[in-house]
Amino acid sequence: PHSNPTHRSLLSSLRTRISGELIDRSDPRYDDARRVWNGMIDRRPIAVVRAGSVADIAPTLALASQQGLPLAVRGGGHNVAGNGTVDDGLVLDLSGLNGVEVDAEARTVRVAAGASLAQVDRATERANLAVPIGVVSNTGIAGLTLGGGVGWLTRAYGLTVDNFVSAEVVTVAGHLVTASRTENPELFWGLRGGGGNFGVVTEFTFRAHPIPALPFTGTFVYPAPHWESALTAYEVWTRDLPDELTSVLTFTVPPPLMGLGSDPLLLLGFTWATDDTARAERVVDRLRRAAPPAMEATEPVSWPAWQSSVDAIFPKGVRGYWRNTSFDSLDTEVIAALIRRGTEQTWIGTGFDIHHLGGAFGRVPEDATPFPSRAARFWLNIYGFWAEPDDDLTRTAFIRDFGAEVEPLGSGGRYVNFLGEERDADPVQQAEQVYGASKLERLGLLKREYDPQNLLRQNHNILPAVV
Ligand code: FAD
Repeated sequence: PHSNPTHRSLLSSLRTRISGELIDRSDPRYDDARRVWNGMIDRRPIAVVRAGSVADIAPTLALASQQGLPLAVRGGGHNVAGNGTVDDGLVLDLSGLNGVEVDAEARTVRVAAGASLAQVDRATERANLAVPIGVVSNTGIAGLTLGGGVGWLTRAYGLTVDNFVSAEVVTVAGHLVTASRTENPELFWGLRGGGGNFGVVTEFTFRAHPIPALPFTGTFVYPAPHWESALTAYEVWTRDLPDELTSVLTFTVPPPLMGLGSDPLLLLGFTWATDDTARAERVVDRLRRAAPPAMEATEPVSWPAWQSSVDAIFPKGVRGYWRNTSFDSLDTEVIAALIRRGTEQTWIGTGFDIHHLGGAFGRVPEDATPFPSRAARFWLNIYGFWAEPDDDLTRTAFIRDFGAEVEPLGSGGRYVNFLGEERDADPVQQAEQVYGASKLERLGLLKREYDPQNLLRQNHNILPAVV
């Protein structure tokens, strides 16, 4: 079952040179090793290389490059478009390299690139610190960081990329380099949103922030008849909020495990980043009075528990296609579209979130990172997590049509990490939608410097600039 005898002998030779494992198509673990989070992605690599050390990376890159084999680099395997795996090529799986070292005094954290968000949160919480990361705990830190990193601390401290201090990177030429503000600064710029286009990151260093032992968090629940008044009140409430408060609206039919019945609901989740709970109560109460929720839960939970509270809704193997865009405001046209689509969505397995931005996120200058649309107040993410292949067509059609309807109302930019697989899309056009023309040009020049042959193309690809 290997594609040809040359590959077979080259794979055997690679196996003897690495400290990790090489799982080929004859290995009983192959089917498990090739799978990623998104169950719709069904690709058959020639082999999965599970790196045992940083030294395993360069020979794997060299083999792919010399043989012209497609290469996928995998951290947590959560990429919705399935970029953590590839047909008829090599997967370089870094999940075995997952150490996390916290320097509590300096408030910095060194994270090996294969770590999950849960591994980061558990290590930092022991020092009462947190890095601003995402909200489903088995997501990989690598893909999340290289694309941006939106979560419960975005307004307090910015995106994950805004707290990213330096990285160690193996280039496609096989060199280990540091990227930071002072060393290879242009590479550092590109890594803060440009995805895995420029090299294989082996380690990230992040800034961490103090986090309360039991942060003030909670959820308000609104049934459909209250949606319009809740959204109108939310638009006003979010115009003037302290940075400490980050909130996300979710429209979904709650899965049974949430115990919230079977009607479509609007859920408002919020997190307060400091231990000034009295102030948090006052701020949240303003919305409670303007739009009283039908139900609410505001129990204190530990940071890792809050960070993994929706994990069970997104198990590995569910099926996903996602789209997203940003908005300057929730005007009446946007609110009408949200309510209509929220009502149409009568099944379990899709949802859409509105992330409130601004705060520290909005103060980062637009050109400081490739991440788009810093001026946007909201980000809409329409996503899937359905279980049955029979539902693929209807669910993807719902998400695609909804996206196409609201994207023209948005304020531009796409978040690369919330994009599903678009088989027929033109990659240049897609990258332009994400980054805009001028940032894409800068990224293309960087790509030409670090990966002129585009070996790293199993990603939301940036083409090397042509001279
Ligand atoms: P992988 O599939 O392993 O990799 C993703 C991409 O990164 C690939 O293109 C890969 O080539 C590249 N890559 C991975 N490791 C490296 C490396 N070491 N060096 C170079 N390139 C590398 N995002 C948020 O911002 N906030 C959230 O709250 C959030 N929640 C999510 C919840 C779920 C259920 C899912 C499925 C996704 C969520 N995401 C969220 C999106 C997430 O950030 C992306 O899916 C991201 O790509 C996942 O990273 P990964 O390492 O798990 O993925």
